[in-house]
Amino acid sequence: MIALSLTEIAEIVGGQTYDIPDPAVQVTGSVVYDSRQVEPGSLFAAFAGENVDGHDYAEGAVAAGAVAVLATRPVGVPAVVVPDVTAALGALARTVVERLGTTVVALTGSAGKTSTKDLIAQLLQRQGPTVWPAGNLNNEIGLPVTALRATEETRHLVLEMGARGVGHIRYLTELTPPRVGVVLNVGSAHIGEFGGRERIAQAKGELVEALPTAEQGGVAVLNADDPLVKAMASRTKARVVFFGESEEASVRAENVRLTSSGQPSFRLHTPTGCSDVTMRLYGEHHVSNALAAAAVAHELGMPVHEIAAALSEAGSLSRWRMEVTERPDGVTIVNDAYNANPESMRAALRALAAMGETARAKGGRTWAVLGLMAELGDEALAEHDAVGRLAVRLNVGKLVAVGGREASWLQLGAYNEGSWGEESVHVSDAQAAIDLLRSELRPGDVVLVKASRSVGLERVAQALLETS
Ligand code: ATP
Ligand code: MG
Repeated sequence: MIALSLTEIAEIVGGQTYDIPDPAVQVTGSVVYDSRQVEPGSLFAAFAGENVDGHDYAEGAVAAGAVAVLATRPVGVPAVVVPDVTAALGALARTVVERLGTTVVALTGSAGKTSTKDLIAQLLQRQGPTVWPAGNLNNEIGLPVTALRATEETRHLVLEMGARGVGHIRYLTELTPPRVGVVLNVGSAHIGEFGGRERIAQAKGELVEALPTAEQGGVAVLNADDPLVKAMASRTKARVVFFGESEEASVRAENVRLTSSGQPSFRLHTPTGCSDVTMRLYGEHHVSNALAAAAVAHELGMPVHEIAAALSEAGSLSRWRMEVTERPDGVTIVNDAYNANPESMRAALRALAAMGETARAKGGRTWAVLGLMAELGDEALAEHDAVGRLAVRLNVGKLVAVGGREASWLQLGAYNEGSWGEESVHVSDAQAAIDLLRSELRPGDVVLVKASRSVGLERVAQALLETS
């Protein structure tokens, strides 16, 4: 963070200082809310959670080097006391980002935010110092904490904006007003909570409404292949740049194919030229993510050959997203257990299918170990059924459906599509899946592991990797 004295911080957040021996002392390090991450110079934000109260860790945080605590009550160590710590972090981020004048690139969408954020960061970093969140810090706490890592050197700030309802993204854009806003897609993630796809589009579109005008340099980067995203063009005063596979997209992919290892390769078209890309990331869904990243980089002045080179070199920076590991015995584990929704399930199954040919050449089979996709509301049954059916149509070798009711819908879909009997198995929990796979897997097999976050299926992937 830029150096700020405790008096300045108190003024910005409208707080009161307590137990401060020297008000001129400055916060020079990061803002953290986990006391284990405190470094000398940090500001420790104390949140009162359901099980843990950060205020209990205030003393330890200061002992570890924190300059002060941002808290809702005096805690006996140097503190800036505010009524609402989240709002205070937001106010601090807003002031710091405004002072720095850093270019903010913000992105949202139902699937692929974190992956695309990592791609954009890897591209923009070639142009100058770039700050982006590690993992998934995309809410009203993670976003300001990330933004506060920016310093005078920072040229680009890349931020993921998540929404669980209308108004959320508007709030985030007020904290860190973006110059470039990217909307990836409007899918069914959290559809139950939102109450329909139109409402999701309404919420995600708040990002482009917040952009500055074209004259002021505002750019909206929109997915031309997604009708609900494309329609957001009418909700912004910024310049609109479309990406996608359709003709009208100015940043476009042609000749898209998956290599036999499941990595996408395509010809990247931009208004200033073309170049070939073969990605290190797995799965066709990354084509769309790569195009979004390319459009951002192109708008910020990066030459096309450099964009293509950076996309070809980019790796995954966040865990459990299509992490492909081959065991010494030749079994390949694809850990995509971070999260799941219908779109990402389909994308992951297609990547698995592409790996199937190589697997079969080695005498192996493909396994889809899948669990529930959460928060689908009324569409849950139909969506799980459709995923089970797709596994059959893509010629996946075996389906292991893990969990309760939703898992049985997955299995039923497979049964109805292909009269699958032995090819699909329904097990009650992760341990049962581990036991089954440990006895069944043989060299050459490829295993995809994927479900919504709450299922915690990464346990299966990890256990299978430890077996070797
Ligand atoms: P969250 O809402 O949890 O923050 P996210 O939008 O950040 O998710 P990622 O973490 O990048 O998304 O990816 C989540 C899942 O979606 C992964 O399984 C990934 O393989 C898949 N995915 C990534 N990009 C796309 C895409 N463009 N379309 C469909 N699925 C995708
Ligand atoms: Mg994310």
